[in-house]
Amino acid sequence: MTDVFSKRKRSWLMSRIRVRDTAPERVVRSVLRSEGFRFRTHVATLPGKPDFLLSKSKMVIFVHGCFWHGHRHCKKGTHMPKSNEVFWMDKIRSNASRDSAIKRKLRAKGWCVIIVWECETKSREKLVNRLRKKLETA
Ligand SMILES: [Zn+2]
Repeated sequence: MTDVFSKRKRSWLMSRIRVRDTAPERVVRSVLRSEGFRFRTHVATLPGKPDFLLSKSKMVIFVHGCFWHGHRHCKKGTHMPKSNEVFWMDKIRSNASRDSAIKRKLRAKGWCVIIVWECETKSREKLVNRLRKKLETA
């Protein structure tokens, strides 16, 4: 596959994938805090290194960027850059299949897995309601 990006630009782009403590993550953290839930972050001992772990509810939360993780039916998740479209589609497809493998592994271990999409963190109120519901039934 040809690569239209320079090496430097490529490594910058790739580094963006592993970025931690992104704005959507900060929203989720602040919601969990204000709801009084106790949690740990970026737990390396579990598959996929979940962004948040609530051990009391045996629940993990992943905060996914819509573009990188291929959010379906979402403007950001389905919009591909014009150049090198095949590369991006491939990349995102492989991210998405890794995500589902991780989800399966965690569920098999008895974890309840919640995915919070970047676009869902735009409305704090909606996010609060969704997490409340999930956490109350856990
Ligand atoms: Zn989205």
